Amino acid sequence: MTEPVVFRWHPAVVTAVEALTPWVKSVRLACDLAKSYRAGQHVDVRLTAEDGYRAQRSYSVASVPDGSGTFELMVEGLPDGEVSGWFSEVAAVGDTVELRGPIGGSFSWDGPDGGPLLLAAGGSGVVPLLAMLRRRAQAYPEIPAALIYSARTRAEAIALAELEARDRAEPGFSLHLTTTREDRARRVDADLVAAAMARLGPPGRVFICGSNRFVGTASDLIVAAGVAPGLIRTERFGA
Ligand SMILES: Cc1cc2nc3c(=O)[nH]c(=O)nc-3n(C[C@H](O)[C@H](O)[C@H](O)COP(=O)(O)OP(=O)(O)OC[C@H]3O[C@@H](n4cnc5c(N)ncnc54)[C@H](O)[C@@H]3O)c2cc1C
Repeated sequence: MTEPVVFRWHPAVVTAVEALTPWVKSVRLACDLAKSYRAGQHVDVRLTAEDGYRAQRSYSVASVPDGSGTFELMVEGLPDGEVSGWFSEVAAVGDTVELRGPIGGSFSWDGPDGGPLLLAAGGSGVVPLLAMLRRRAQAYPEIPAALIYSARTRAEAIALAELEARDRAEPGFSLHLTTTREDRARRVDADLVAAAMARLGPPGRVFICGSNRFVGTASDLIVAAGVAPGLIRTERFGA
């Protein structure tokens, strides 16, 4: 029997590597899977060592289809991280990995799904939400959107320059950043959610992504602010 396309592994070649923050690398991969996917979806990445040892992990796609045939991933290098460590310390242009996907139809968005879009991210959980904002800017700028983003510090906030530029330039988009390890450190709280919803109005779609703890807290706060739980989609990156 033929395997469904989503489960087959496809070769992918690294075409660019760029440092985004002290710990996060942007890695662009050319792969035939990159022709068509939805903002918010992820791919599985498989690495194979010379002795045949294999490791695989999931990574959200930060880019949107643009005809280039490439995916952009944004990978945070974790201490002793088997796969993220490879991306942050070893990956170089010309290296080959394997990908399968795109995966995650329910945690994805496109314009016909509607809005307003309320997005909440902790740390690298911003990656799939960045893809949704890029898609909105590319094709549906009239749909209102707000991003609540909790990062450890401004220097560690992924794509902060892009997000702040969108906040300034795109009517209908607002960024609500909080940092947890700087002067006046603050975690996501009811006031921050209220500020985002005051700018946005009642959301029609809500996407929350980050650590287990962040997703639990943000979901509780958003429901407490009056949003129906059925509108909320969550994705948990792990620890
Ligand atoms: C759907 C999905 C999408 C994801 N998208 C992204 C993405 O866009 N960017 C990204 O950087 N990561 C993403 N992740 C997390 C990623 O899949 C890996 O879990 C992460 O890179 C760690 O893998 P590793 O092999 O480097 O670490 P491992 O060798 O598995 O673990 C090393 C150490 O890190 C701890 N650890 C493992 N995972 C995490 C985590 N997520 N956060 C904190 N500590 C952890 C382990 O407990 C261990 O102590 C995603 C996860 C899922 C499920």
